[in-house]
Amino acid sequence: MRLVAAACTLVVVAFVAVFGAILLHERTNADPASFRPSAGTTTAQAVEPATSPVTLASTINRNPILPEPQAVVPERPPVQSFAQAPARPAPPPPAATPAPAVSCPGNPNALGVSRVVEVDTQGGPGFGFEHFKTHDFLQPGEVVLTFDDGPWPRHTPSVLAALAAHCTRAIFFPIGKHAMWEPGIMKQVLAAGHAVGSHTWSHIDLSKKSVQDAKDEIEKGISAVHWAAGGPTAPYFRFPALRHPPELVTYLGERNVAIFSTDFDSFDFKMRKPEQVRQAVAAKLKKFGKGIILMHDFQQATAAAAADLLNDLKAGGYKVVFMKPKASVTTIASYDEAILKDAKLPTVSDRPTSSVVRTINE
Ligand SMILES: [Zn+2]
Repeated sequence: MRLVAAACTLVVVAFVAVFGAILLHERTNADPASFRPSAGTTTAQAVEPATSPVTLASTINRNPILPEPQAVVPERPPVQSFAQAPARPAPPPPAATPAPAVSCPGNPNALGVSRVVEVDTQGGPGFGFEHFKTHDFLQPGEVVLTFDDGPWPRHTPSVLAALAAHCTRAIFFPIGKHAMWEPGIMKQVLAAGHAVGSHTWSHIDLSKKSVQDAKDEIEKGISAVHWAAGGPTAPYFRFPALRHPPELVTYLGERNVAIFSTDFDSFDFKMRKPEQVRQAVAAKLKKFGKGIILMHDFQQATAAAAADLLNDLKAGGYKVVFMKPKASVTTIASYDEAILKDAKLPTVSDRPTSSVVRTINE
């Protein structure tokens, strides 16, 4: 009996020992999993911040047990860029970059436009010290370029080309009739960004006309230039021969059209050689130091001198100011109709006459 009891005890002890060993083994295998902060989650967090380098870097630093860091490293381009960012050379300060004075393709010595002023023509202000002493807005060395009496074949395009080569802008005062004859050139002037005023219908001396006839001349000129240019024109007017009848100065004030005289006249219309025009402008500029310059794109000598004249201005250190109108001119409907009666309007058809009209019976 004792022997049986001892055997049973031995079996029980052996069973307990074996069961305990198995239980201990199971717990030993289970523990690492129960303490891992979810390996899958951690990996996801480590990869996810690919768009947030700061988060990724801090996650890596705070979690020393992150498994297999080598496998994650290749997927961290943001960390590299984040680390490289401070090493980038700082951009040079703007002052250290010598900016070209004028951005003008093909001409490093272009005049350009140094200053644009907006002109409010309300009440018809007068400009040009030969006749108006009110608005002295130009600084020493500043000039305003103005060209009268165009548009004219060859001459006006030459002036436009010279201005374009210098990337600079001017004011044109075309004659109404000329504008009606050359609407294509008129449109080129406007398209080039110049201001287009007007200079009467037929360039007559308004001081020798009745007030009504003079008003008709002014208004037909405004309507004609506006029609020919095909776009907004400026409320700028210049009297032919710079004759300013007081009633008409008042009238233009009521029309909110600015009146342009000149600071000095080049008298280029008296000259036949381009060299004379250049010398005349240079001499006047030397005397006055600045000013609204009156020239004529209608004149052959001025057209031929234009390119060199602008080069002279640049070499002399002068700067071009562009007078931009605050608003465009308003035409009067009855004058718009009147000028169209005089016009030979182009049509959309460019077929030769022989294909439009042919003799079928003779
Ligand atoms: Zn004129």
